Amino acid sequence: MKTIFGPVPSRRLGFSLGVDIIPYKTCSFDCIYCELGKTDCKTIEPVEVIQTEAVLKELEGMLSASPLTLDYITVSGSGEPTLHPQLGLILQEIRKIARVPIALLTNGSLLFKEEVLERVLAADVVVPSLDAPDRKVFQTVNRPHPSLTFDQLIDGLIKLGKAKGPRVWLEVLLLRGINDTPEQIEGFGKYIKKINPEKIHLNTVVRPPVESYAAPVPDDRLKEIRKTWGPRAEIIAGPSQDKVQAKRIPEESKICDLVARRPCTAEDIAQFLGLSLEETVPLLDRLIQKKKITYESFNQQGFYRGL
Ligand code: SF4
Repeated sequence: MKTIFGPVPSRRLGFSLGVDIIPYKTCSFDCIYCELGKTDCKTIEPVEVIQTEAVLKELEGMLSASPLTLDYITVSGSGEPTLHPQLGLILQEIRKIARVPIALLTNGSLLFKEEVLERVLAADVVVPSLDAPDRKVFQTVNRPHPSLTFDQLIDGLIKLGKAKGPRVWLEVLLLRGINDTPEQIEGFGKYIKKINPEKIHLNTVVRPPVESYAAPVPDDRLKEIRKTWGPRAEIIAGPSQDKVQAKRIPEESKICDLVARRPCTAEDIAQFLGLSLEETVPLLDRLIQKKKITYESFNQQGFYRGL
């Protein structure tokens, strides 16, 4: 199983190499907006299908084969990375291999457990999610494992905010008519104050979601909400503006790898490859003809997805 992907240009993490430590699609949540697909294995039990040695070996091999100027190494998963029982060790070992800051993306659901919180502290930046201002919306949006509660999520996020170590950038994903009313935004604000993150990343649905009713919040509304939450808040929805540093020879497997992890627009893929749109679209057409990827539209945009 391939565990390293990219580098990909990311709006908040620059030029970032991904380390995928959880198999598809294993998660403690089954979010209605998830771009990876429905959760097949909803669990809170440790999952060690992907072996630590294999991850590190692949990363080492990739970094030595092509020295890259990276902004971050981003640990995530085709699901929830804090389910990996060796997460702490993986983060520590990555630090030895690569002198690049390490970011960890997590849904935050297990941070209330002491052993999980301890593991994530080895990252330089932790990017947890908060998509609900109350228990009801938590159930509607995140569809958590039955044993998880909203109070545990908040407790874990507050503990993370207080812990010494990583910078905390809280991601809040807003959905039209579900968690974006003025009262709900005020509700989020109260928890954000308690969590006290360094940054608040305001996001909405930009790629095809699992549930068609998970609709994006319009730009104007996002801008209003950003103002409400003050200078720490920034909108991260929308394509990355970062420039890919080097043109590389496009390889079909790189495109397939990228879209297997999340649906991408032609612009995303062009930027990833360091090519123009005119050069990229014929490559994508070829892959569709070969039945290696598919095309679908969402919110008036076209997306390519792996098969
Ligand atoms: S969005 Fe993240 S937390 Fe939610 S189901 Fe998908 S992988 Fe899990």
